[in-house]
Amino acid sequence: MSALPRIDEALALVLARVAPLEAEDVPVGDASGRVLAEPVRAPTDLPPFDSSAMDGYAVRAADTPGHLEIVGHSAAGRPESRVLAPGEAIVISTGAVVPDGADAVVPVEWTSGEVDTQRVAVGDNVRPRGGDVRRGTVVAAAGSVLRPAEVGALAAVGVGTVRCVRRPRAFVLATGTELRAPGQALAPGEIYESNTVALRAQLVSAGADVTVLGSVGDDEDATRAALERGLEGDLLVTSGGVSVGPHDLVRASLASLDAEEVFWRVAVKPGKPIAFAVRGRTLVFGLPGNPVSSLVDFELFVRPAVLALQGAAQPGPSYLPGRLGAPLRRNDQRDELVRARARAERDGIVLEPLAGQDSHMIVRSSAATALVLVPHGAGVLPEGAPVRYLRI
Ligand code: AMP
Ligand code: MG
Repeated sequence: MSALPRIDEALALVLARVAPLEAEDVPVGDASGRVLAEPVRAPTDLPPFDSSAMDGYAVRAADTPGHLEIVGHSAAGRPESRVLAPGEAIVISTGAVVPDGADAVVPVEWTSGEVDTQRVAVGDNVRPRGGDVRRGTVVAAAGSVLRPAEVGALAAVGVGTVRCVRRPRAFVLATGTELRAPGQALAPGEIYESNTVALRAQLVSAGADVTVLGSVGDDEDATRAALERGLEGDLLVTSGGVSVGPHDLVRASLASLDAEEVFWRVAVKPGKPIAFAVRGRTLVFGLPGNPVSSLVDFELFVRPAVLALQGAAQPGPSYLPGRLGAPLRRNDQRDELVRARARAERDGIVLEPLAGQDSHMIVRSSAATALVLVPHGAGVLPEGAPVRYLRI
């Protein structure tokens, strides 16, 4: 028992087998959620010119307060070519070029008539050229998963295309003679196949390009044929058939297809019977069939692998600090991921464990917003104990 790798050890074994995929050009409008292969520097200053922060009048600060003569109009996208002379003002709109000779903008609210203005200082209400970012500065770093604000920033500095690591091509396969697709009628002894549905959603959320191969019965030839297809991807995730029963065929079939098993079983609850194998550059995760085990193993091992394939600098999983809202008994052998609801209190996050922690209870688990890491050991963690958790 003690020979089983712990979560961190197993994750290290996985990440040691991951090499980032090749980069490709991606239009910036499609790049949200993608991982940059190289840093992007601003090709231009932003703003590209001194621009007005207000609707008002471009002036010389030294002329204020006072009465000024309006001599022109600078609208957004329609600069005024005239150079401002002493005693003059130019009507200006937000985002318009501050004309040469002007060094401040008086908001229209600070004026009366045509045009008596209050005092302004040099630079007031002017957005200086390069004040947001200077040309050549890194706008987004390599290895970062691009967020919506970041693709907006890249577009704002005029970047139309970025180099991103290509999406991993993932196949998903369910195994189990008892499985029936949702929407159909169940025969005696059958259950609905749910793991490929959840796994597909998890893979997509991690950035993979997913093909679900459906499900195969517990039959050697069918299992082998489906695995062979799945081994064509960068990543193959299977569900079920990795335990010790006579119908658990996935590991032997993978071995017969020359996949090298890196580990089988991890000291974790749920999700212990996970198998991890590689063939060439294809990563294979044989996840246990119990739906909650599948869900948890994905977050611990598969999501980090999918992110690492995309060159993510921090593939995670990233644990956050919280405290227990109720006492929890520890497992003496295995680290446990307890499904919980996270609640924000004034002094931090409180994690309320859900009733029904059995690994087949996917409906109860679906209420969870957190996986609380309960380290193995003796006794009980009391209410209020500091813990780490994953957001799900
Ligand atoms: P296994 O890992 O194949 O021994 O399956 C463990 C448990 O998970 C059994 O109760 C299976 O019926 C169930 N199970 C296996 N695969 C799936 C699946 N794709 N969807 C839902 N339940 C499954
Ligand atoms: Mg099975």
